Amino acid sequence: MPKPLEINQILNATGDPATGQKNVWQAQLSQKELSDLGALVQSQENLSFPQHCGCFKPPGGLCHEGNCRRTSCVDCHGVCSGSDCQKPICPEHSFYLELPGRPKMRLCRSCYGKTLRRHRTFMVVKTVLSPFVRFEK
Ligand SMILES: [Zn+2]
Ligand SMILES: [Zn+2]
Ligand SMILES: [Zn+2]
Repeated sequence: MPKPLEINQILNATGDPATGQKNVWQAQLSQKELSDLGALVQSQENLSFPQHCGCFKPPGGLCHEGNCRRTSCVDCHGVCSGSDCQKPICPEHSFYLELPGRPKMRLCRSCYGKTLRRHRTFMVVKTVLSPFVRFEK
């Protein structure tokens, strides 16, 4: 094997400024070597690494649920649709809630619990009140 004359590495990474954790998602490795015949041969390799979600796509963002800090791709990463939450969440920490007459919501764990509880209370109140409503008619 001829010894490489030059090796170049270009790493495409995203980092979390809070933790300093780096996530390399693309790498370009190129190498120059002298062949047996004395010619300069350059080879290049492009590598992609999957995001936490398993997709080979650019990173979408870090999960802020607990200490997850995992990076999902642009398609899988999302934010909690809780009214004043907007927490960035990975698919693993996303909870989906579909309430009648409303579009499907993607929520973090605590907002999911809160929304579900609020909705249940609402349903209970509605059932309790309905006989009165009917009576007044
Ligand atoms: Zn993905
Ligand atoms: Zn997560
Ligand atoms: Zn939330």
